[in-house]
Amino acid sequence: MTLPFRVRDEKFTAMNVERCWRCGLCFGVRRAVNLAKSLAGSGWNVFTDGPIAHGNLLVERLQAEGITILDGDRSRFGAKDCILIRSHGATPARRKELSKMGCNVVDCTCPAVRRNENLIAKLLGNGKHVLLFGKKTHPEIVALAACDAKNISVCEGEVDLPSTDAIGPKDIAILCQTTADGHEFSKFVAAAKLRFPMAQSANGQCGEVKLRCEELAKAISRREPDTAVIVVGSQHSSNAQTLAAIGHRASLKTAICEKICDIGQDFFCGTKRIAIASATSTPADAVDAITSHCSRQRGQRIADGSC
Ligand code: SF4
Repeated sequence: MTLPFRVRDEKFTAMNVERCWRCGLCFGVRRAVNLAKSLAGSGWNVFTDGPIAHGNLLVERLQAEGITILDGDRSRFGAKDCILIRSHGATPARRKELSKMGCNVVDCTCPAVRRNENLIAKLLGNGKHVLLFGKKTHPEIVALAACDAKNISVCEGEVDLPSTDAIGPKDIAILCQTTADGHEFSKFVAAAKLRFPMAQSANGQCGEVKLRCEELAKAISRREPDTAVIVVGSQHSSNAQTLAAIGHRASLKTAICEKICDIGQDFFCGTKRIAIASATSTPADAVDAITSHCSRQRGQRIADGSC
């Protein structure tokens, strides 16, 4: 006998995909990329001093347009060669080295990084010791810390806080990396103030990262069950990790990927809703591709060993 209506298979779920509005390259990366492209378009051979930003897709695309990462062994340059200082900036020593290489140097340091650089210079000028919260190996932190290794302590967490004896009578100022996790920074400031009660803190997080974090936090704040988070970006990107931490803190299934093939099909099992955020060095079309792939996951079987 045929039933007069379609029996609903409860093992299937419809996917609800919500992409954060702020996506694609941030203004700092876009500015560097546009400059690189316009120089290349005007006949310059453009080299970047390290990857222009932490995004493999972006670097690959620029390479396809002839904009390559400076090879460490290269010592001879032609009249039409130029080197770009990337959005993360460079140490004073590196800037000197580059200027001695005999070719044009174009500084693409992001204005938000510059702002922190100026703030640190001011704090040091006022005789303070700076606790710089960020990743020790991140090029932005390496560049900032190199300004005054003696009076800047780079801290990845409470464990790196210097002792009061090591600092002496100096006043303490606290600042974070532009792409730092705001939640972790607050925890760090609280711990630092226990040791240095008079310490003053300034949030060095850039506006773009702050807004992307707020938007993702809002997208998952309804705490709908079976929500997952995808951050489109490189595993090496600090701001991708900061966005992913929001998903992890909410105990949601969270992945960082640049291409959909980086995520196993298992990720979609049991997922009814996906919030998609973008790291600041991810091209917008890569976010679009992942969004449309996720949208096509409608009808995905709920985890029962069959998907
Ligand atoms: S993430 Fe922020 S600091 Fe980094 S390049 Fe983009 S705007 Fe600048």
